[in-house]
Amino acid sequence: MEITMHFFFNLSLIMIILFFALVWSGKNKNFSISRWSSLFWCSVLLWSCFQFSYHPTPSISMDLRELPVLIGGLYLGIGPMLSIIVIVIRGFYGLDSGFFSNIALYLPLAFFFWRIYPWFWKQRPYRRVVFSISLGLVLSLLTLACLEFMNLNINRFDAYFAYLVVPPLGITMISVTSEFVIRTFHLQNKLIKSGKLEVVEQMGAAISHEIRNPLTAAKGFVQLLLEDPKTTTKHIDYLSIISQELDLAEQVIKDYLTFSKPSLEKVEPIHVMEELTLIVKMLKPTSNQYSVDIITQLEKAGYLVGDRQKFQQCFFNVIKNGIESMPRGGQLSIKTKSDQRNLTIIVKDNGVGMTKEQLDRLGEPYYSTKGSKGTGLGMMVVYSIVRAMNGIIRVQSEVGVGTTFRFIFPSK
Ligand code: ADP
Ligand code: MG
Repeated sequence: MEITMHFFFNLSLIMIILFFALVWSGKNKNFSISRWSSLFWCSVLLWSCFQFSYHPTPSISMDLRELPVLIGGLYLGIGPMLSIIVIVIRGFYGLDSGFFSNIALYLPLAFFFWRIYPWFWKQRPYRRVVFSISLGLVLSLLTLACLEFMNLNINRFDAYFAYLVVPPLGITMISVTSEFVIRTFHLQNKLIKSGKLEVVEQMGAAISHEIRNPLTAAKGFVQLLLEDPKTTTKHIDYLSIISQELDLAEQVIKDYLTFSKPSLEKVEPIHVMEELTLIVKMLKPTSNQYSVDIITQLEKAGYLVGDRQKFQQCFFNVIKNGIESMPRGGQLSIKTKSDQRNLTIIVKDNGVGMTKEQLDRLGEPYYSTKGSKGTGLGMMVVYSIVRAMNGIIRVQSEVGVGTTFRFIFPSK
């Protein structure tokens, strides 16, 4: 059982190196692993496989090199580069028949990994694990077929056992652990986010109430001064600026109050089509300013139960963001769909889009990419209103292509 022994030794080395890679990437604050460091760690893994290969004949080397390529290709998106590295390292061991069969296997694999990586990440964790193991098995079978073809003088049982047991075992261990780490990381992020929200909620409630009353008083007196015939034109200019700024402050406080009191004050039937049409009308000046066409496709029969004003505020914020994401004009579509269980509202723009990091931070208090023009409170309010209405939000976004928001509410 020479081959099996070599493979198990290979596997233990891989696990040891992966352990160090894990500890090392865990030191980063957000547990991220850059492309260069993943390349580095996978190259170390490959090198360790080659270094301890089993050689039945000088031109044949048997080892677990497929394992780092597979894991790196599927989980880290560096499959094409790793395939090239395998070919290059194998080249150093001699340009023999083994080298050419590696080219024949790893060049198509490079292409395969390049195409499969985006698809792979759209799958559920369980399916990712199953897919990784199946791919490992296919690769093992391919290698075994090659060995049969070469008709080598090796212990057949040993070879079959080594190729059909050790790689799938290794892949299972690594992919299940990776999924576990990914899940823990997401959970941790969620916790941090909800902790932050809680603080803002409490502060917001306390401060907004205190500020709203003096603000209303100040606005009243500004109005009085504006109406006073003795006020000079110069002072009227100043007073108008004060009045505008007070309005802005009021809007911020309104967002804050909605956010810290997500419970619905009034529960009434909301006619979705009517409300959305009204919001589009309110935003007409903004959409004209940005040369954005708004296309609506609304079902007549859609009803929801909740607070009408908050529903308006929520979709006002979402649609306004959509318009603002298209500074050079574009198209914004609003659609509703309903079945017996859910009512879905889809808001789609073809604006600037968001990166993955931006998407992760969406809904965080004060998160805005609009500089002094943005408050970073709009989406936070959207999330809290939708949560209060028992709805969920799904966002898909691609930089330069656009963003689609899907709001799914229970029908009853
Ligand atoms: P603000 O609009 O004041 O910046 P929001 O909370 O409304 O704050 O939005 C937060 C951030 O989310 C925006 O600054 C923007 O970067 C991003 N965003 C929201 N909606 C979209 C969208 N439809 N397209 C692109 N980016 C968006
Ligand atoms: Mg906004």
